[in-house]
Amino acid sequence: MNSDNSRIALVTGATRGIGLETVRQLAAAGIRTLLAGRDIATATTQAEALQSEGLPVEPIQLDVNDADSIAIAVEQVSDRFGRLDILINNAGIFLDNQRQGATGQSMQVWRDTFNTNLLAVVEVTLAFLPLLRNAPAARIVNLSSILASLSLHTRPGSMIHGVLVPAYSASKAALNSWTVQLAHELRNSPIKVNAVHPGSVRTDMNKGRGELDVAEGARSSVAMALIGEDGPNGSFNHLGESLPW
Ligand code: NAP
Repeated sequence: MNSDNSRIALVTGATRGIGLETVRQLAAAGIRTLLAGRDIATATTQAEALQSEGLPVEPIQLDVNDADSIAIAVEQVSDRFGRLDILINNAGIFLDNQRQGATGQSMQVWRDTFNTNLLAVVEVTLAFLPLLRNAPAARIVNLSSILASLSLHTRPGSMIHGVLVPAYSASKAALNSWTVQLAHELRNSPIKVNAVHPGSVRTDMNKGRGELDVAEGARSSVAMALIGEDGPNGSFNHLGESLPW
């Protein structure tokens, strides 16, 4: 069991990109942070690099698409800490070929996208929920995207009007829906659940073509992980500003 009072966070898909930077910022805020990666060797290397900066980071193996891996990770966190204060569902994939539009994506692209961006988030969250309930006031942050917004997709002149990446967009819209449903069910508990758009962030996902660096891109996740009792529940936001569903 964790003997000190520091909060415990777990960030999925944290071996690179926004997830890795989210680990860095949470740990810099004094949160004991588990850097989760499906490849434990990479997770260990990244965690050691942050440890060498004096940050309280530890690696943990977690493939969000693998039920056994999820169960083992839950067991490890349970044995070591008995609770989880912050879960950041950051792992995500983008497989659509934008040139092929709404009708041209393969069913494999649809299935793989929904498996990782929606079903794995549900499975990981349900598996960790008992440990999140053991924490005094747990926070769950789901990495959504502006591309989830049906209002903006249908608003002529919006920055995403006509951007056709249907599997990714639909998976993140479904993730927003799950966020709202879970937040409602947990509304009388101390747990808060929110979805964030990190911004258009330069990572491998967009081949480095985003507008923000990862330091800026991790800020929305970290802010929602650290909200107090008066913070939102069931929101969709970027840097604290509400986004249209
Ligand atoms: P990224 O650089 O492509 O990194 C994705 C991370 O997810 C990697 O660490 C990857 O691990 C991990 N991952 C993928 N499948 C996994 C699985 N089955 N199990 C465990 N980890 C898995 O992406 P990013 O740009 O940092 O994106 C992070 C999140 O923000 C995603 O949910 C994304 O949809 C969302 N987002 C990003 C942007 C943006 O502009 N970048 C905008 C809106 C939303 P491996 O290294 O093992 O592949």
